[in-house]
Amino acid sequence: MTYSDKELGMGLRITRRDFMNGVAMAIAATAVPHGLRAQTAEGEPQNAPGYDPPATIGLRGSHEGSYTVAHAVRDGSFWDHAGAAEATGESYDLVVVGCGISGLSAARFFRQAAGPSARVLLLDPHDDFGGHAKRNEFTVNGVKLLGFGGTYAIESPEPYSPVAQGVVKDLGIDVGSFAKVSDRKLYRSLGLESKIFFDKETFGADKLVVSPTPRRRGNAGASAESESWRRFAADAPISDKAKADLLRLYTSKDDLLPGLTSDEKKAKLARMSYASYLGDLFKADPQVVAMLQPYPADLYGVGIDAVSAQDAWGLGMPGFDGLKLAPGAGPGMGRDAIPNEEAENYFFHFPDGNASIARLLVRSLIPDAVPGSTAQDIVTSQVKYDRLDRAPSPVRIRLSSTVVQVKHVGDPATATEVEITYSQQGRLRTARAGRCVLACWHTMIPFIAPELPEAQQAALRSAEKVPIVYTNVALRNWNAFVKLKAGGTYAPGSFFSSVSLDQRVSIGDYHATTSPDQPIVLTMHRFPCQPGLPARSQHRAGRAQLYATPFEVFERNIREQLARSLGGGGFDPAKDVAAITVNRWPHGYAYQYNSLWDPFWLDGGPPPCAAARKPFGRIAIANADADAYAYTDCAIDQAHRAVSELARV
Ligand SMILES: Cc1cc2nc3c(=O)[nH]c(=O)nc-3n(C[C@H](O)[C@H](O)[C@H](O)COP(=O)(O)OP(=O)(O)OC[C@H]3O[C@@H](n4cnc5c(N)ncnc54)[C@H](O)[C@@H]3O)c2cc1C
Repeated sequence: MTYSDKELGMGLRITRRDFMNGVAMAIAATAVPHGLRAQTAEGEPQNAPGYDPPATIGLRGSHEGSYTVAHAVRDGSFWDHAGAAEATGESYDLVVVGCGISGLSAARFFRQAAGPSARVLLLDPHDDFGGHAKRNEFTVNGVKLLGFGGTYAIESPEPYSPVAQGVVKDLGIDVGSFAKVSDRKLYRSLGLESKIFFDKETFGADKLVVSPTPRRRGNAGASAESESWRRFAADAPISDKAKADLLRLYTSKDDLLPGLTSDEKKAKLARMSYASYLGDLFKADPQVVAMLQPYPADLYGVGIDAVSAQDAWGLGMPGFDGLKLAPGAGPGMGRDAIPNEEAENYFFHFPDGNASIARLLVRSLIPDAVPGSTAQDIVTSQVKYDRLDRAPSPVRIRLSSTVVQVKHVGDPATATEVEITYSQQGRLRTARAGRCVLACWHTMIPFIAPELPEAQQAALRSAEKVPIVYTNVALRNWNAFVKLKAGGTYAPGSFFSSVSLDQRVSIGDYHATTSPDQPIVLTMHRFPCQPGLPARSQHRAGRAQLYATPFEVFERNIREQLARSLGGGGFDPAKDVAAITVNRWPHGYAYQYNSLWDPFWLDGGPPPCAAARKPFGRIAIANADADAYAYTDCAIDQAHRAVSELARV
């Protein structure tokens, strides 16, 4: 089935015009022509009237212009055309490279230790602060909608450390209050169910089918007698053999590794992919393997061909009952098979995800810039971007600024200052600081701080980033979802592997809409990768794909996938889609070590991130990469460690 541009609404003025405005703002933020510079106060894009990155739609995340300088530095071409750097004459106690949650936390910890008069400058190439913790805003039919463009929630497989919990608490976030601010009954009361969308290209027919098992931890689910299994079996466009194999997978008590102890079985499972386990040991039909392929991508950024069978067991994927594995973490597992109860209960989701945490951190650093005083009013607070970088403030945040060089002034062993060179709007400038925290992505550090020891640079280079796309689609209504009873949809063969209506969370003056006639944000996730390759190579291939994919390709896929999966409920992309924001993260999650691709993970030996994060002279290293753990608590903990190391200088 193919759709014309008109049927999909590709040419609609509202979306186009808004998108063009969005792009215009993003360009203004990153590449203001020389003649215009004088018109913005202090020459910075963020000081221009109307500057409001969260309200920008179109291609966000790592938006156009945010990576141009960094890639030129990486490719070695930057310095050929850079010209001479101009000294700002600015001197700080601390310069922080990277304004993600780690960089913002580092600034906070430093000032807590050094006192409120300590002067801090934070630099970031993006047009907004927060790094992955990105806020998206839409206005549809006069209703303001918020969405998370990256970091979704306070959640971690391990309990937050006392340090990270301390930050959350000091910012005023009452994690325990989540049940009160979220409406968890609405979708259920309307009869929405988990669905699977089978696509024609992979499974022979487009079909939206009820999921045979709730998409959650544990093998609980399909049984031949259950109502959802009967409906799934009747509707799913897969062969009878695949259906029988799927049911066998959920119900089998066969031990596929007889004669081995639980530990011996786990050791074997740790060294084989779940796809191999299904295909080679379980002899599951290829359609079953295809159905489960992208299932763990939300956590790993790759499918079951690159995730170990042991981790699949730990995640509660089916097919292991007969093995009678002992509960608990096996050697080399990424996470414990028994969820940590304290960690599970420590969950909080703001309507804009952890962007609210970034905004609270900025408020604590520059109160003037983020009006309000509570973790409730933060949700609707309008950031005054022109107050982020003002001379009288002890803390300054300078956006659209890529750091290209960090070096000690003189011998690192005895230097009293670090010089930081950054590029903003094509101008190269320097600032100096007594100390520097590199809270940026680790693979960038060897390019900007070549004075670090070679072994440390190699460890930094070994960090990988997981490419991810979080798309927010503002809908005028969601009647089609109710008609089809479609809640969260898993789409194993489609461009976006998951599609879900945003959670209904109301905080402060922000009230989530509750009627299907009202606008809502739909989130669609894609994990670009290349199945069949080792995980790191898959991430690199996915990243290249992502940079090469223009907005129009995302838009067509979004509209077409929604038309194909929801058309039966009357969904009309030309009428129902009000706006689209594609948050593209070529450098997404910190890569997490695992037993399939990182031998030291099973065999022992220090992980590379331990060597990568060592302090050097007056420079310390933070970011979630510093512990190879893609969670906000890690970003905070690593900032705390980095600042503590600097205190000893
Ligand atoms: C789509 C997505 C969803 C996620 N969801 C969750 C979640 O629900 N819960 C959770 O706990 N974690 C989640 N994470 C993980 C998230 O990465 C961490 O929680 C945390 O936000 C990372 O913060 P950070 O400061 O370490 O890194 P980042 O947020 O990546 O910030 C690093 C910053 O460094 C900047 N930088 C890079 N190079 C330079 C340079 N040369 N000069 C200056 N600055 C530079 C970058 O522009 C970036 O802004 C998610 C991540 C992604 C991508």
